[in-house]
Amino acid sequence: MQHRIRRPIVAGNWKMNGNAALVGEMQQALESQQFENVSVVVCPPLTYLGTMQSDTFSLGAQNTSDKASGAYTGETSLSMLQECAVEYVIVGHSERREYYAENDQVVAAKVAAVLEAGLTPIFCIGESEQVRDAGKLFEFLASQIDAVLNIIGINAFANVVIAYEPIWAIGTGKTATPEQAQEVHAFIRQHIAKQNGEIAEKMQILYGGSVNGGNAQSIFSQPDVDGGLVGGASLKPNDFITICLAANELR
Ligand code: PEP
Repeated sequence: MQHRIRRPIVAGNWKMNGNAALVGEMQQALESQQFENVSVVVCPPLTYLGTMQSDTFSLGAQNTSDKASGAYTGETSLSMLQECAVEYVIVGHSERREYYAENDQVVAAKVAAVLEAGLTPIFCIGESEQVRDAGKLFEFLASQIDAVLNIIGINAFANVVIAYEPIWAIGTGKTATPEQAQEVHAFIRQHIAKQNGEIAEKMQILYGGSVNGGNAQSIFSQPDVDGGLVGGASLKPNDFITICLAANELR
C-alpha cells in the first residue's frame, strides 16, 4: 500500500568511498529487505556501477558530463551511464560546486542533459552557515533553483528530484532539526508552486546532511520531506537499511 502522495526516495551517496567488498555486502544486505513504499537508490563510485544490479534498488551516478561524446578526458557520458542501468544522477552536490568549480550554469546544463537522456536528476541545493547567519537563506536557495528553472522551464521540473542539503550539515554530524528541514522544504515547494502548483505538489524533495539511523524517522516524517540523500551512513549496510526502512514505514 502506498502511504504518501509522494513516494519517498532514499539515495545513498558513497562519494569516493567503498570498494568491491562493500559493493557485494551492500547488494546482499539490501536484497534481504523489501522496500514496498520507498525507492532506494545506491550511488557508488563510477567503477562499481557496472557490477551492481538489482531489482531491490536503483542505481545512481554521482556526476555526469553534459556532453554526448568526444575529446573530454576523464568524463563519462549519460549514454555510458545508461548502459550501466543508471536511473538517477546527482547534480550540483556542494562538493562538486566547491572543489570542481561547478557553478549554477554548469549545474543547469547537467540537469538539462540528464532530463534529455530520460534519467532523473537529483538536483542539490543548500546554503552555507554564513548565508544562513546573514539571513539570506531563502534568497540564496531561490537563486539556486531559478538558475536551473530559467534554463529547463517549469514543465521539466515534473521529472526533477530536489535534494536540500545545508552545507553546514554535510558530513559534520550537525543535522538540521526536523522543523528546520520542514521550513525549507515548504519554502522550496511554494517557490515551485508559484509557477505550477500541480508540479510542486508532486515533486519529491529530499533532505541531506548527517542523516543516520537515529534521526531519519523524525526528519522524514515532516510533511514536505520526501526521504533523504545520505552520505556517511550509506556506507554502513545496517545503518542504510534502518534509514530506508524509516522511509518505507512513513504514513
Ligand atoms: C551528502 O554528501 O550528500 C551527505 C548528505 O553526506 P552526509 O550524510 O555524510 O552528511
